[in-house]
Amino acid sequence: MNLPFRPSTLRIRLALWYTAALAVVLLCYATLIYVAMSRTVWNELDERLHHEVETSEGLLQPYWTARGVVAPNGASVLDDDDERWLQVWSVDGAVLFESPVARQRPIPGLAAPDFNIARSWVDITGRAVRIKDERGHIAGSPVIVRVATEEDRQRKELGNILWYMAFGLPAFIAVAGYGGYRLASFALAPVQRLVDESTSITADHLSQRLPVDPRTAEVAQIARAFNQTLERLETSFNQLRTFTANASHELRTPLTVLRTTGQLALGHDANVSEQRDAIGSMLEEVERLTGIVDTMLLLARADAGQLRLERQPIDVAALVQSVVDQCLVLADEKQQHVELQVASGTALVDPVVLRMAIANLVHNAIRYSPAGSTITIRATSQRDHWTIEFEDEGPGIAAEHRPHIFDRFYRADASRSSQPGGAGLGLPIARWAAEAHGGAITWRQNAGDGSTFCLTFRTQPPA
Ligand code: ADP
Repeated sequence: MNLPFRPSTLRIRLALWYTAALAVVLLCYATLIYVAMSRTVWNELDERLHHEVETSEGLLQPYWTARGVVAPNGASVLDDDDERWLQVWSVDGAVLFESPVARQRPIPGLAAPDFNIARSWVDITGRAVRIKDERGHIAGSPVIVRVATEEDRQRKELGNILWYMAFGLPAFIAVAGYGGYRLASFALAPVQRLVDESTSITADHLSQRLPVDPRTAEVAQIARAFNQTLERLETSFNQLRTFTANASHELRTPLTVLRTTGQLALGHDANVSEQRDAIGSMLEEVERLTGIVDTMLLLARADAGQLRLERQPIDVAALVQSVVDQCLVLADEKQQHVELQVASGTALVDPVVLRMAIANLVHNAIRYSPAGSTITIRATSQRDHWTIEFEDEGPGIAAEHRPHIFDRFYRADASRSSQPGGAGLGLPIARWAAEAHGGAITWRQNAGDGSTFCLTFRTQPPA
């Protein structure tokens, strides 16, 4: 409906739609009733006139002669009343008989037709009359009998009906419109309650939920959908809170070490070698800080979709071997043995990104495995992807930590004090690298002790 103004509330729109629909229906219904009533009124009148014709034929018959109606002693053979008056015509259009009123009130411009018909006309006095012409016989002669009567009563009756409709319809529509508005308000009341409830939910009360009233199925559906959104929001907020707390902690630790080392070095008369040691450990912390910040930036840019992979064909075995070679110093320190079972083959990948993922997984395997254990790295090539497994003999991962190990800054050691843990960004980076190459990274518990991380990536980007 194109309204000249746009009502801003749904209840007004609903009420207007409802009223408009009802007005159309009522108008159609009223028109139908009026047409039916006027047909009945005119049919009844025509029927009465038909009887008048028959009666008049009977009344005129005794006085009928070849010269027309001849009354004895000039008396009137037919008395008129306001209800009807009549004329008799020959079939060739000559007036054979006229009742007294018919003589006073001729009907100009209306010939007597040679067939049965009823018409409305205006007589010489300017009043509306109903005229019925009928073919008939009087004393065996064919004639046309015309009976006329005033239409005042019928027109008045129909006029009254029109007046009732003209005043009644708007009143009905107004009442219906008000009823429609009340109905819409009633129907929308549960929605209003939802709105009131939802405005009280703030970031601090995300655990709050909207009431679900099963009696109003549609509104309950909205409430359920809203509650599900709240649930997702709450999870995201909690993750964000944990992330912020963990990130702050990770950044704070090296800063505290930096400050303490600096204060210690300044606090007493350190000799040159002590000062060099202090500067060395401060640089180590700066490096750690830089590493964390670089990784955070990298992940942030990846999230924003600003990172593009620089793909090039690489020898996967050579890449894995070179990462392992770099980590061997760490493994040697713990007398660990790294076993490589790598298939030969190439892949069209970004070597820098993939290297980060492999390095993080190898580092973790070395870090979290006990001294003297064996770390096995298996790489196999399937039709369109590679799988690299990193199996260690470490402690595995406790059930409560498993869902979170890929979260940023998450570390199984809640106190974040255990050595040799990193900042909790290794697995998130590895996962991003895998996903950027159309793959994934999963964890599984080994049959004995230890974990196996499984990294997959596509051999080449999808066409
Ligand atoms: P971190 O820098 O702390 O190693 P990661 O994101 O690499 O961070 O790993 C997250 C957590 O997952 C670690 O704190 C550790 O508890 C657990 N984890 C990762 N790799 C292993 C592994 N090979 N064995 C046991 N636990 C592991």
